[in-house]
Amino acid sequence: MPAISSVAVFCGSRDGHAPELRAAAAELGAGLAHAGLRLIYGGAQIGLMGAIADAALAAGGEVVGVIPDFLTRREVVHTGTTEMIVTDGMHSRKQRMFAMADAFVTFAGGLGTLDETFEIMTWKQLGLHDKPILFSDVHGCAQPLVALIDAVIADGFADLSARRLYEVVDGVPALLDRLTWVSATTAEPPDPDRL
Ligand code: AMP
Repeated sequence: MPAISSVAVFCGSRDGHAPELRAAAAELGAGLAHAGLRLIYGGAQIGLMGAIADAALAAGGEVVGVIPDFLTRREVVHTGTTEMIVTDGMHSRKQRMFAMADAFVTFAGGLGTLDETFEIMTWKQLGLHDKPILFSDVHGCAQPLVALIDAVIADGFADLSARRLYEVVDGVPALLDRLTWVSATTAEPPDPDRL
């Protein structure tokens, strides 16, 4: 994994039903700040997005929101970030987040989170980048995503090597270890040939 200074986090604009997720989101935000990693995210003040940003800011971290102009009201744009970039649409938002991030973390979320995750994975599959993509598995939130990718492979629509596009990391502390390259022996990428 190359040196990482900015991490884009894709996560829900809602909290979801499991109370563990909001606490883990805050743990992730604070952990990124303590590790000196800049958070790039979708710019909302609500849901898990807001929880991560609030915690990162409270811990003294740098937080950059990237939001399309038409969502600035609907998503309740965060007013306290280090920087807020307003784009002219969804595609430019994702492009901007991609360009600024050295790595991507998918946390629990909805359709927007899935869309952002799949886009960044498909760009990697096409060889357009080689940045790390980590699925943060808290309360099993990454498992349906992993199962969907496995189903696509099983149905012959992707090679087994698709499993090399991402890593699943269990819990926030291991994720932070992986990102900071401290000691991540439990978070080594799975060897797809052995699966
Ligand atoms: P969600 O996971 O649906 O709560 O959305 C999380 C983030 O993804 C929010 O910032 C949404 O604005 C964004 N989002 C929602 N739909 C899309 C989409 N089709 N493409 C890209 N981003 C989206």
